Amino acid sequence: MTDSHIETIRNLAYLLASVLFIFGLKGLTHPRKAVRGMQMGALGMFVAVLATVMAGGILSWTWVVAGLLIGSIIGVLMATKIPLTDIPQMVAMFNGFGGAASFLVAGSELVVRIAASKVVDPSLPDAVPPPAVPLSSLVAIATSGMIGSLTLWGSLIAAGKLHEFSFNWRGKKVWMSNALILPGRHAITGVCFAACLMVCALIVMNPGTAVWYWVLIVLAAVFGVLITIPIGGADMPVVIALLNSYSGLAACATGFVIDNTVLIVAGALVGASGLILTNIMCRAMNRSLSAVMFATLGQAGGDGPTEDEVYAGKVKSTSAEEVAMLFDSVRRVVIVPGYGMAVSQAQHAVRDLANLLEARGAEVEFAIHPVAGRMPGHMNVLLAEADVPYDKLKEMDEINPTLETVDVALVVGANDVVNPVARTDPSSPIAGMPIIDVDKCRTVVVIKRSLSPGFAGIPNPLFAADNTLMFFNDGKKAFMELVTAVKDS
Ligand code: NDP
Repeated sequence: MTDSHIETIRNLAYLLASVLFIFGLKGLTHPRKAVRGMQMGALGMFVAVLATVMAGGILSWTWVVAGLLIGSIIGVLMATKIPLTDIPQMVAMFNGFGGAASFLVAGSELVVRIAASKVVDPSLPDAVPPPAVPLSSLVAIATSGMIGSLTLWGSLIAAGKLHEFSFNWRGKKVWMSNALILPGRHAITGVCFAACLMVCALIVMNPGTAVWYWVLIVLAAVFGVLITIPIGGADMPVVIALLNSYSGLAACATGFVIDNTVLIVAGALVGASGLILTNIMCRAMNRSLSAVMFATLGQAGGDGPTEDEVYAGKVKSTSAEEVAMLFDSVRRVVIVPGYGMAVSQAQHAVRDLANLLEARGAEVEFAIHPVAGRMPGHMNVLLAEADVPYDKLKEMDEINPTLETVDVALVVGANDVVNPVARTDPSSPIAGMPIIDVDKCRTVVVIKRSLSPGFAGIPNPLFAADNTLMFFNDGKKAFMELVTAVKDS
């Protein structure tokens, strides 16, 4: 087979892989087709890798096989050992690794091309060295380096925030998930961004050295950390979606560096879909895209009321038997799931109670907040796994205007997404975020283990409201007890 035949077959395989990626993404837009979508995406990647490897140009099979083996072992271990509740952190790390792979490939390509440009072929009569690295490649290399490095470090910080790491600072415990505000942070971030751009220019102007590239990697790492640490409270979903988009853009730039069509297409798809997701998340959080991109989110905020001020003497606790009595005469029940449902894996027990109440004549619906849980679509995935029909899942904007007619709202492991402070306290870290207005329902039953706060780290006056009863329990146990109590009543 001639080289041009191999090239044609490779390009056709890349085209097939690109089509599979697009259909895969389309499948991911609906829970029913999501698994097929994932399989198509994976098949597309397999075709792309196979075509790249088969089309030759591989210098050492040892490295390829070693990389495949090490990567597969790490992947299998992560997929099997990591608990379901830690998947968001894992996804954040994978975004970061995507960024790292992009800037490492771009960097090594720069080093190789610089070395090649210095080799003079003595057999040629006029001993002319090959051309230096072209301008377009240098621009792509600098772009990949900057976005890749900031994606890696931003994603590592995001993973730490999602994992809710804490550390001691001057004798005080600091939670990474809170907004960490440096004095003069806007000036520092601005200077760092300007420095990154200047070093990009130096890379383009000095094609004979890779030194500036590695300087850029360090500066972009600092920039990535600076734009992620001030994000806290409930704004993390937007940042994660944005970092996801950045990892795609870095891959796309690297595709231009190594002249690989499928990497350009796949990177552009990830970049564009990540940007669309960021936009959706911004709307869900009532934030502007520019505020996320330029790290102007995350305010120091006021101190806010303490837990004692919000809860003391006002919280009423209840039991499964009491809640079962409430269900005696209900017509409309709304279940609001949150992160605690994922932690306790309560979705099957939740479905059992919903079925039971429906069998007794009540109308049961699920109110889904777009950022409930720790990743986009988290609640939809869990409820789909428990075979809850999709038409019972109501989006926040659809269900909110109807909540006044709800007899009982069951809030399971949700906290920030039902915190009325978002509407009332402009200095709160969740100020302005639309919430599910369960406080407007006739009776609210909140199922969680204690009065401890949610991801935003603030007290929730809903728990002390007149129409709220707290059922302190693990989510799954609570629903199992409720099922038994309703059957016995
Ligand atoms: P929250 O994090 O606000 O609250 C979760 C609650 O679950 C906690 O208060 C906790 O209370 C309770 N809980 C934990 N374990 C259990 C258990 N075993 N049984 C019962 N309850 C339990 O969750 P929400 O879903 O309300 O809000 C999501 C938050 O995460 C928002 O701030 C959002 O912005 C943020 N976020 C969302 C992302 C996304 O993409 N969806 C990504 C990153 C962040 P207790 O310990 O007392 O039981």
